[in-house]
Amino acid sequence: MSAHDAIEAATQRLGSELIGAIEAARPADHAARLERDPLVHWTRHGGGAGFLAGCFRFVDVFPALSTDAHLMEYLRAYVGEPRDFLPVAGADGQTARRVRELVASLQQRFIAGPSLDSALSVCERLRGQGLAFTLDALGEAVLSEREADAYQDTYRSLLQTASQAVAGWPEAPTLDSAPWGRVPRLNVSLKLTSLYSRFDGMDPLGTFAGVAPRLRAILRAARAAGASVNVDMEQREHKDLTFEIFQRILFEEEFRDWPDASITLQTYLPENRADLAALLDWVRRRGTPVNIRVVKGAYWDYEVLRARYRNWPVPVHQSKAATDADFEAATRIVLEQHALLRPAIAGHNVRSIAHAIAVAETLGLPQGAVEYQTLYGLGDELNRVLAERGHRVRVYVPFGDFVPGLAYLVRRLLEATSRSAFVREMWASPLPVVGLLAKPEPPEPVGPRASARTLDAPFENEPVSDFARPEARQAMAAALDAVRQKFGRSYPLWIGGRAAEGASEIVRRNPSLTAEVVGRVALASRREAGQAVRAAARAFPEWSARAPRERAECLLRAAEVLRRRRFELAAWEVFEEAKSWREADADVAEAIDYCEYYAREAVRLAEPWRRDVPGESNEYFYEPLGVAVAITPWNFPLAILTGVTAAAAVAGNTVLMKPAEPSSVVAAHLMEVWREAGVPPGVIQFVPGRGEEIGEYLVRHREVALIGFTGSLAVGLRIQRLAARLAPGQRHVKRVIAEMGGKNAILIAGDADLDQALPGVLASAFGYQGQKCSACSRVIVDARLHDTFVERLVAAADSLPIGPAWDPHAAIGPLINAEACERFARYAALAAETGRVVFRGDPGPRRAEGHYVEPLIVADVAPDSPLAQEEIFGPLLSVIRADGLEEAIAIANDTQYGLTGGIYTRHPEHIRRARAACRVGNLYVNRPITGAVVGRQPFGGMRLSGIGSKAGGPDYLRQFMQPKTFCENSVRRGFAPPSP
Ligand code: NAD
Repeated sequence: MSAHDAIEAATQRLGSELIGAIEAARPADHAARLERDPLVHWTRHGGGAGFLAGCFRFVDVFPALSTDAHLMEYLRAYVGEPRDFLPVAGADGQTARRVRELVASLQQRFIAGPSLDSALSVCERLRGQGLAFTLDALGEAVLSEREADAYQDTYRSLLQTASQAVAGWPEAPTLDSAPWGRVPRLNVSLKLTSLYSRFDGMDPLGTFAGVAPRLRAILRAARAAGASVNVDMEQREHKDLTFEIFQRILFEEEFRDWPDASITLQTYLPENRADLAALLDWVRRRGTPVNIRVVKGAYWDYEVLRARYRNWPVPVHQSKAATDADFEAATRIVLEQHALLRPAIAGHNVRSIAHAIAVAETLGLPQGAVEYQTLYGLGDELNRVLAERGHRVRVYVPFGDFVPGLAYLVRRLLEATSRSAFVREMWASPLPVVGLLAKPEPPEPVGPRASARTLDAPFENEPVSDFARPEARQAMAAALDAVRQKFGRSYPLWIGGRAAEGASEIVRRNPSLTAEVVGRVALASRREAGQAVRAAARAFPEWSARAPRERAECLLRAAEVLRRRRFELAAWEVFEEAKSWREADADVAEAIDYCEYYAREAVRLAEPWRRDVPGESNEYFYEPLGVAVAITPWNFPLAILTGVTAAAAVAGNTVLMKPAEPSSVVAAHLMEVWREAGVPPGVIQFVPGRGEEIGEYLVRHREVALIGFTGSLAVGLRIQRLAARLAPGQRHVKRVIAEMGGKNAILIAGDADLDQALPGVLASAFGYQGQKCSACSRVIVDARLHDTFVERLVAAADSLPIGPAWDPHAAIGPLINAEACERFARYAALAAETGRVVFRGDPGPRRAEGHYVEPLIVADVAPDSPLAQEEIFGPLLSVIRADGLEEAIAIANDTQYGLTGGIYTRHPEHIRRARAACRVGNLYVNRPITGAVVGRQPFGGMRLSGIGSKAGGPDYLRQFMQPKTFCENSVRRGFAPPSP
């Protein structure tokens, strides 16, 4: 028999024994007891996944529901009429009491009380049952350095207090010793993401610097207390950095000989094999073993959702069998290497555990060389049986307040009720031995999806780069270096397919370091602008006559060039516009999306609409307008210019690109992209110039048919006025598409989840320094949450590093230019006079190097103050207090703008109300209000924010065309040919 077969046979034997022992220990009325268990009952009879999802969402909002009336309102909204699922439902007050009891019982089942004391009594009881424990202090999401300090303090005092408590407990040899010696009685588990507020895979150095001092302090305290420390694993995006920090710190002289640290390996990630190999390598170099906890992984739903959301490859195994098979493979390696990695096999799956015991037996490992771990509330039966057989079983015991514990609780509820979870299978009675012990046979892996980029394939969003992956970081760093080598170059105009000199030039400097000249770009005078219009007019007949598919193919080729140059183009944005890595990368991805999306839209709209009757054929189809001018802003330097130009050109127009002055270098690179993509000469010209001069000249030009403008309100209105005037000899009405400014608000309802709302508001307000038309500049907070919100917001803002855009550590960079700083300073002065400045960031010595300002948060802002009414375009956030949702909506609507808006709430009725009442073009619920995605959230405002149809949406392209009706009477002397 091969070793594999022997292990399999032993697994089956041991598995049957374990299941038999579990079954034997069950009381006679086990099935009836299970039925009384609300989780089991709801899962079996509760009307499917939708019902359970409703229950979990209700549990999530539960702590915010202080009155019975509130509780019942949310219960009905999320779960339904209580009498349908609660046998005891009666009057509302009675039902509310029963629901509170039920939620409390779920909480008690998975969380060992609110305090360390309560958790220690649970641990003591567990020890009495022959079980070891690891303590986990549940905490809120750590959003500020203050909160990270608090988490560190919690662990230090936990270690101190608990070590004294456990010292007095009686010795338990199975638990306190292993073949290699003493096993610390006190064992804690912690999350590195809670030790630094800005834990980010994109910034390994900054994150290490943030986490390391706090982790060292905890490890020191653990060592002094004779305790063991486990580092938990969370989302995939934090995994590499968690391994890296763990390995770096435990390699330091002070900790190198310490064996009582533990790290976690998640086998639902196919990468676990490489991670395990790297860990083994490291531990060999280190020379002292560490512990390893092998788990399957608790964030499966999150990982799949997040990957689908970003159009990234799903990082987890998609079949449970593959995860289980990897778990067994990892178990085997870890057990073989037990001298280096002391194994803890964690989970509730009897098959996986039986397999581990079988491997241990085959390898001849002594009892106690392998530890088994389960979660509090999920593995009672299994724990007992394993402990009886002399194994060391450790129970993961979380404790803490209900609110911070919610994320944990919901993960456990999901785990318990998930269709594929072993825990749920264990609810069967009698237990189906064969099914429970079946060997995991993963399906054949499916190869990566071939991404078809032909016109006939459906549109797909370009994934943004995942900077938690080293390849992406290296590519970006290399691009920044390469682009720096190209600083100072000159870029010409492009007219009629030829490079042309300008009348003057603009020198573009790096806003993060103004001593650096990024590039020089020729500026058109009226003469060159006039030549460019004529060149476009000359190219129009040939271009407009081409088949729409042919024009669309040009856009797909441009998308390919953008893809090939994506890091380079992003690097130019970092240096010319001071966009952070992620912002710059997203801008390039959006530009690619516009090309791909409008190409397909052009093909769709090329199909004429027909309504024939016998003897008459009728068609309705679109024609281009003529010469179009794209006048665009600097803040999305590539995406907006690409979008307007691509839309105009693919519709059959010829185009002049007139970018905003501060984005001239990036725009010059876009011109190169069009040329590389083979857009014919004369179809797209590049005529950068001053807005008031060249922009205006082009708007007035009699040959211009269409102006695609995005920019400020004042300029947008002026362009409309100018375009409305008929120039001598002009024979058409000019069409103006104008996307303009915003004064966007986020509403924080009284039931909002602050862990979600705070980062959302900060990202919306201070992302790209607030220089987005969609940025949040007013946050309107329900009076119930106002003070807590402001306090946590300020602490979180205070933890945002200010620095140059090229540094992935910096969260806030400089403004675009000196003029923007001056404008900002005027509003800052007004804020100091009229509001209560609760936060003022400090750029420190950087201030002298670039266009840095002090980011501000201002509370008690009057809704009619200029601070709350005018577009500021910088990092200034006004906080306004509101009494209830209606007042908040009224304040939000009380501006001339209507671009984006958002609300954080967990009440379906609030969401419905906001949807109907908020006067904005793009409304977002429970997420940041910036970062619209092409094809998913078509973007554009109402009121004075815009008159165009939304960019990246199904109506956009039509604006660049005019419809024509064609009708042919085919009747000749009473006879008509048959219809085609
Ligand atoms: P801006 O209005 O100053 O300039 C926009 C463009 O207009 C530039 O190319 C500029 O050169 C040109 N221009 C200026 N004066 C002109 C004139 N008299 N005639 C013709 N053209 C003229 O805006 P900006 O500072 O580049 O960009 C920031 C503004 O853009 C903000 O108000 C922001 O809200 C808005 N914006 C809106 C959207 C949207 O989709 N609604 C998107 C991004 C930016």
